[in-house]
Amino acid sequence: MTSLRTPDGRNRAAVCPECGASAEIAYQPFCSKRCADLDLHRWLSEGYGIPSAEEDGEADPSYL
Ligand SMILES: [Zn+2]
Repeated sequence: MTSLRTPDGRNRAAVCPECGASAEIAYQPFCSKRCADLDLHRWLSEGYGIPSAEEDGEADPSYL
């Protein structure tokens, strides 16, 4: 059986996925609001390229 635990037995080190610094509890999993915002912006901009499958037409003008 393969163990994915780290050699030192601790939980996975919480490091910021943006810059690799130690994550802050307040901004987990990021180290700061700046990095959290960076990731959010990237996530949102990627999301814009994906057509929503949940459009229910409520805002469709032709429906009024
Ligand atoms: Zn960071």
